[in-house]
Amino acid sequence: METCTHRLPATVTLARDRGSVTLGWADRSGRVTAATLRGACRCAWCTQARRRGQPVGAAEAITAFEPMGGEAVHIVFSDGHRTGVFPWDFLSDLATMEPTP
Ligand SMILES: [Zn+2]
Repeated sequence: METCTHRLPATVTLARDRGSVTLGWADRSGRVTAATLRGACRCAWCTQARRRGQPVGAAEAITAFEPMGGEAVHIVFSDGHRTGVFPWDFLSDLATMEPTP
């Protein structure tokens, strides 16, 4: 089986305050905040809440960041939400792209 890894970051750095994650590739880097990730969570619970027009919750920090193979990462947020799984592609899209100096 072939795995597409071209968008897999080379480095993933959790900020000291755990409020954001910086993804680094060979030619660029991007930062995404815990609040953005929490608001963009695509788990069944959040998807349903969003569909009903309910708030999906908010978090200012990432409690755990656990890569699941080369496809996605499981993120636990400071508000206790722990069902979020973020594909690297999705994280890459969310990250604010900054060219590497
Ligand atoms: Zn969720």
